[in-house]
Amino acid sequence: MIYFDNASSTKPSKEVLDAYLDAASNYFENPNSIHKYGMRIYNEINRIRSRILKALNLNSDYEVIFNSGATESNNLALIGYYNKNKNRGNHIITSKIEHDSVLAVFKYLETQGARVTYLDINKDGDIDIEEFKKAMTKDTILVSIMPVNNEVGMVLNIEEISKIVRTYPKCVLHLDCVQTVGKYPFDYSLGDMLTVSGHKINGLKGSGALIKKKRINLEPIVYGGGQENGLRSGTLDYPGIVALCVAIENTMKDFALNYKNIGVLQGFLIENLKNNNEIKLNIFKKQTPFILNFNLKTKKASVVVEALSNEDVMVSSISACNTKKEMPSHVLLALGQSDDEARNAIRLSFNKTNTIEEAKIFIEKLNKVLDSIKGRKL
Ligand code: PMP
Repeated sequence: MIYFDNASSTKPSKEVLDAYLDAASNYFENPNSIHKYGMRIYNEINRIRSRILKALNLNSDYEVIFNSGATESNNLALIGYYNKNKNRGNHIITSKIEHDSVLAVFKYLETQGARVTYLDINKDGDIDIEEFKKAMTKDTILVSIMPVNNEVGMVLNIEEISKIVRTYPKCVLHLDCVQTVGKYPFDYSLGDMLTVSGHKINGLKGSGALIKKKRINLEPIVYGGGQENGLRSGTLDYPGIVALCVAIENTMKDFALNYKNIGVLQGFLIENLKNNNEIKLNIFKKQTPFILNFNLKTKKASVVVEALSNEDVMVSSISACNTKKEMPSHVLLALGQSDDEARNAIRLSFNKTNTIEEAKIFIEKLNKVLDSIKGRKL
């Protein structure tokens, strides 16, 4: 199989699986039990918090709240922050190209009375800074923007955004870093709250964290035994936490080499796709090499994905969560594409394990598939 769908999920690495199995087999006790085996795990979890902060180059102003993944982290960051701080201001800002686990939360917060600004994206794939400055008010308490987009791989101008947010003492910046960790060189301290997920970086599904500045107060969204400083009740999943830590450490440790290798692979694919009459590449001023998106000029994306799958090549049309709905990509629409274009895009997304050999086979299979299927109604 050729697997170019790594922005949807990755294969867990051997190191992650070994660490998980060891933790699940040998350290099964409850970390909140006060006997010595519970305490041993509790203390180890605290060491893991520091290891994760260190891997991301964050200092002790930050803390780690473990949970089930990025969807939960985004919900906790946004709902938790809004509910705790809405008395200080009622305006919150996001962009039109966020993942659904951010956009759906903003939609929900609107129903709770929040005033929301959804920022446009310009042709370069940046937030228009003048528009952003105009949107910021004394009433703005929260901005949430992703540094790297999961559908097209473009990199947003977070440095500029962060600088502006810092001039508003009441306002905090949340960054959905799911497709940033291990995929782009980034200064994580630009954000006040950061979302990370294990399964996009050779870790496990169901493991993630919200990393936030300690001074930021949140209202919990899950109530119960009061674990994670009352912010995420439920018995801590020690094996999942170990797996998340190993995944983050490994992806950060090997980052420079992987980034370079996948850059070569992406470059090879761009060279081989750019003159294909059936394809329009979606490339931006700044881009992660781990994602490559293109429109199909005359073929239907869902048909191409299925035909490639029959050739044992796995890719996505828009994001995995949306594919089944056959909706146009809200990201491509926000980038100014027509409804028809935004329905017919393919995303290739890579992992450090992918090779040029696979890229060559991909090009062959894609050409075969494009030749064999009929055009869509235009
Ligand atoms: N944010 C982004 C940018 C994503 O790509 C994804 C996964 N597609 C998520 C959030 C949701 O992640 P999880 O599966 O860990 O809930």
